[in-house]
Amino acid sequence: MNYQIACIPGDGIGPEIVREARKTLDAVAARFGHTFTYTELLLGGAAIDRVGVPLPDETVSGAKSADAVLMGSIGGNTSTSPWYQLPPQLRPEAGLLGIRKALGLFANLRPAFLYKELAGACPLKDNLIEGGFDILIMRELTGGLYFGERNTVTENGIRKATDTLVYDENEIRRIAIKGFEIARKRRKKVTSVDKANVLDSSRLWRAVVNEVAKDYLDIELDHMLVDNAAMQLVRDPKQFDVVLTENMFGDILSDEASMITGSIGMLPSASLNETAFGLYEPSHGSAPDIAGMNKANPIATILSASMLLRYSLNLQTEADALDQAVEKVLQDGYRTGDIFSEGCQKVGTDEMGTLIAERI
Ligand code: NAD
Repeated sequence: MNYQIACIPGDGIGPEIVREARKTLDAVAARFGHTFTYTELLLGGAAIDRVGVPLPDETVSGAKSADAVLMGSIGGNTSTSPWYQLPPQLRPEAGLLGIRKALGLFANLRPAFLYKELAGACPLKDNLIEGGFDILIMRELTGGLYFGERNTVTENGIRKATDTLVYDENEIRRIAIKGFEIARKRRKKVTSVDKANVLDSSRLWRAVVNEVAKDYLDIELDHMLVDNAAMQLVRDPKQFDVVLTENMFGDILSDEASMITGSIGMLPSASLNETAFGLYEPSHGSAPDIAGMNKANPIATILSASMLLRYSLNLQTEADALDQAVEKVLQDGYRTGDIFSEGCQKVGTDEMGTLIAERI
C-alpha cells in the first residue's frame, strides 16, 4: 500500500531524530512491500526563520492531506533564542498549539514502558518492577482547566485569580470511546482517573465513562481518584494498562509515569482526532543543548513512528516489527549517551537509527 506521511522536523535535535525515524520506516516499507511518501512541513522556530510565522497555512493543509504526521520537536533555548523575544502568538510553541487545534487532536497517548535492559535507570525498587510494566496514559487534550475561562481581578485591594474546569458530555464520551477502543488492542483494562469525591466535572466524567463502558463489556473498567492514582503509579505500576483521564490530571500523571521509566529519550507520544488521523512525536523537547552533535537518542521518535503505523495506518505487524527491532538493539548492548551504562557500546544518533533499521 502507498501511504502519505507528513514530516515536521522542527527545531533543535528535531531534524536529526526525524531523519532516523524515516530510515526505520523505509526499512519497514522495504520488508513489508509498502511505499511511504513523505512531505516536509515547516513548524515552530524553523518556520519563523523561513517564513516569519510559527504555523504557515501550507503546514495545516499539508498535514490535513496526509494519512498521519510525524514530528520531531519544536522550540529553542528559551533564555537565549531570539524566537522568545517575539510576542507570544509568534513564538514556536504557538505553532504547536495551533496545529493541534487545527487538526482537532483531542486524545493524547503517552506510553510508559519499562525495557528490562534499562531497568537500572528506573528509580523504583526492583521488587516493584519485576517483569516490567506497560502503561498507556490517555489524556484529554482540548478541554478542562487549561481551556476554561480565567481572569485575575483586584477586589478591595486583594488580588484574586479564577480558572474554570469545564467538560461537556460529548468531550468526555469521545475520549472514553478512544480509550476503550485502544484498550481492546492491548490488555483490555481501563482505569479512569478523576476526583469525583469533590468535583462536579469529575462526577460527570465518571457517569459518562460508565455509560460508554456498557458498549465494551469485554474491557475491565475501574475508577480511581487522582491522588490515589499518583500514589499507585509508584507503588504498583504493573496494575495499570490504559489510564484514561482529563487534561490537567493527565498532564501531571503522564510526567510521573515517564519518570519511572528512567529515560525521556525513549518515550513516544501520539495525539489523535476522531478519525484514525494523528500526530506522532517524542515526549521530550528539542534539546537545544545537544542539537547537531549526533548525541540525541532517536528511539522516542522511532517508537512514535511505530505508533503511527499502529494507530493511523492500522499496520499492527509492521509496528510490532519496529518495536521488536528497538528491543533487539537494546539487547545487543547499543546505547546513546543518555541511556549508556557500563559494559554497553555507545553510539551516535545516526548509528542508532541504522542499527534499528537493520534489525527490521
Ligand atoms: P528537553 O526535553 O528538550 O531537554 C531536557 C534534557 O533532556 C536536556 O538535557 C536534553 O539534552 C535531554 N534530552 C531531551 N531529549 C533527548 C534525546 N532524545 N536524547 C538525549 N537527550 C535528550 O526539554 P527543555 O530543555 O526543557 O526544552 C527545550 C525546548 O523544547 C524548549 O523550547 C521547550 O519549549 C521545547 N519543548 C518542546 C516540546 C515539543 O515539541 N512537543 C516538548 C517539550 C519541550
